[in-house]
This record gives sequence, C-alpha cells and structure tokens, in this order.
Amino acid sequence: MESSSENGSRPDVHLVGLRKTYGEVVAVDRVDLDIRRGEFFTMLGPSGSGKTTMLRMIAGFELPDEGRVELAGTDVTDLAAYDRDVNTVFQDYALFPHMTVGDNVEYGLRVAKVGKDDRRKRRAEALEMVRLPGYDDRKPNELSGGQRQRVALARAIVNQPRVLLLDEPLGALDLKLREQLQIELKQIQREVGITFVYVTHDQEEALTMSDRIAVFNEGRIEQVGEPESVYERPANSFVAGFVGVSNVIHRDGGTFTVRPEKVRLLAPGDPTEGLVVEEGRIADVSYAGMVTRFHIELEGGDRLQVARQNLEQTSHEDEGMRGERVKVAWRREHTVAVAEQQGVGQSTEEET
Ligand code: ADP
Ligand code: MG
Repeated sequence: MESSSENGSRPDVHLVGLRKTYGEVVAVDRVDLDIRRGEFFTMLGPSGSGKTTMLRMIAGFELPDEGRVELAGTDVTDLAAYDRDVNTVFQDYALFPHMTVGDNVEYGLRVAKVGKDDRRKRRAEALEMVRLPGYDDRKPNELSGGQRQRVALARAIVNQPRVLLLDEPLGALDLKLREQLQIELKQIQREVGITFVYVTHDQEEALTMSDRIAVFNEGRIEQVGEPESVYERPANSFVAGFVGVSNVIHRDGGTFTVRPEKVRLLAPGDPTEGLVVEEGRIADVSYAGMVTRFHIELEGGDRLQVARQNLEQTSHEDEGMRGERVKVAWRREHTVAVAEQQGVGQSTEEET
C-alpha cells in the first residue's frame, strides 16, 4: 500500500513510557513500544495483564497518567479518539441492530460526509474484502457470529484508518471458526495493508497470525519478537510458560527450558550423540489425537512434558506406559537458558 517516503521509516505506533493506574492497580507500567507500518502486531498476555488498557490508550478512549502516544510520527496524546486515524474492533460485534449490513458498513463514511456513489463503491469493496459480497441487505440478526465479526471488520476498514486495533475479536467464536478466521484475518490484513494491533490471550492465535508479538505480564512487556523467536527462544521463564508449555528445568544453578515436541523417549540402543539425556518416570500419559503427551518426572524433581506425534502407536500401548522408568533426550541446541521470573507458576493454568 502507499506509504510516503518521509514516513516510511517511522513506526506507525510509537509509545513512550506509557503508564496507567486505577487506584492501587498499575494496569500499564511505563511501556515503550514501536509498531511498524503494515505490521500485524499482537499483544499477548494473560487476563488482567494490561492489553485492553494499552489499546484504549492508543485509541484515545483512555488518557495515560504518564507517557506519550505517537501515530505515524505525530503526537496524539492529547487528541480525542475521533481525531485519531485509528479504528477499533471489539469482541462484541457492536453493530447497529436496526441497520442493514450495508448501512452498518457505510456508517463511518456517511459521518465523514462521503458522497453516495463513493460510499456504495467502498462498501462493496469492503464487503468483498471480508468475503461477504452481496450481503448488503441483511440485518445483523440474520448473520452468524463469524459473519457479524466480518461485518464489524468491514465497517472498521472501510474508511482506511492508518491503524486498526482489535481487542480479542474472535474471543466469542467456537474453536473451528476461530481457527478459520485467524487465517482469513491475516490474509485480509495483508491485502488491505493496514497496520493491525491485535490483542489476545490465546498463544496459538498469536503464533499463527502475527508478524511480531509482545508478551505482556502485569502491565509490562516481557519480550517482543517474531513468533518463532518468542516460542523457540523465550527470554525468561514467564514467556516460556505462557507461550507454550513451560517445561522449566533447574540444573547446576541455572534455569532452562525445552519445548515438548523437541524431546523424545529413548528406546534401548538409540544413539545419544549430541543429545541431552535425562532419566525419569512417566507420571502421566494423555492421548490427544495428533499427539500423545507424556508427563515425565525427572530425577531432580522437575517435570517435563514430551509430545510424541502419533505416526503409528495407539493410545492403548501408551496408557500401559504410566509408571515406567524412561530416558528422554533432545538435541543440545534445543536447550534454552531462561531468566527466572516471578511470574512463573501463575502462567501455566492453561497449558495445551
Ligand atoms: P487485559 O485486557 O490484559 O485483560 P486490562 O487492561 O483490562 O487487562 O486490565 C489491566 C488491569 O487494570 C486489571 O487489573 C484490571 O482489573 C484493571 N482495570 C482495567 N480497567 C479498569 C477500570 N476501568 N477500573 C479499574 N480497574 C481497571
Ligand atoms: Mg482485555
């Protein structure tokens, strides 16, 4: 999409020392962050970590106690929400129920006094973009949840904001639909070229969709990076535990992590060159279709989750392995040293 050369190198969103408190609660704690032009950027973190507060400050619905918000190089900290070149999509569709889909999508253009012919053209384009061409005359209550969220998206992109903020937009949908829309939303973002700032607590969603992810914890950012680096090289034990399964191992005074799919159960006689080998006991086995997960109690007391792809084995054979002593191994380079974090332990309630 178009981006004038003088703005090309500036981040679309530039946040400096942003802080927001509610009484005793520090919702956002002096965050600095740059989001690039055209980026699909995700704020990932557990409930209460400050993600929505961040979005509301970017949108202008909430004033920071300290710090500054710049959009495309302009300080907008003191601008009202409607004067910022930003739109927001929320989890609850927030469509006007009495208006048709077409009128809903056109609404922002009408407010901006765009002429009728231009409005019709742009609403048709927007509905095409969200894969709902020809739905103009339907009412919101004649649509499924997923379709309504597409209309909300069409309405938010129709006046081509510089930045689109999305707060858990797929949160109310069931898993299948959510997975489908994750992929579509990412495609749509590429097509429209608008910078997306996306909020979710779902790590798989973040890994699937994002160019970069910021991992939030108690109002601070623990790590910013591409999905692969956040997953494969977590900066600390909080990130290791929240983005994926925690698998934190303590050895020789250090703290390490290794991803479950990198670890395998050794059979007698398997070569071990270049591998880290640990002994333990299979404490639990859970069959999950594509994979079987083994929970191993290591000698030192740490627990390790191992995921094995089910190429051949059946769940019956696996079940019988509970209680067995085993050796597990992984390639040395898959051990990642992590810094110990206070957040660890509260982050593992939603393991997958
Ligand atoms: P998230 O979106 O990551 O779940 P929020 O930004 O909604 O987190 O909330 C961060 C913290 O700020 C939480 O402790 C929450 O209870 C608190 N908080 C958010 N909004 C308000 C508000 N309007 N009044 C009081 N506390 C709030
Ligand atoms: Mg929230």
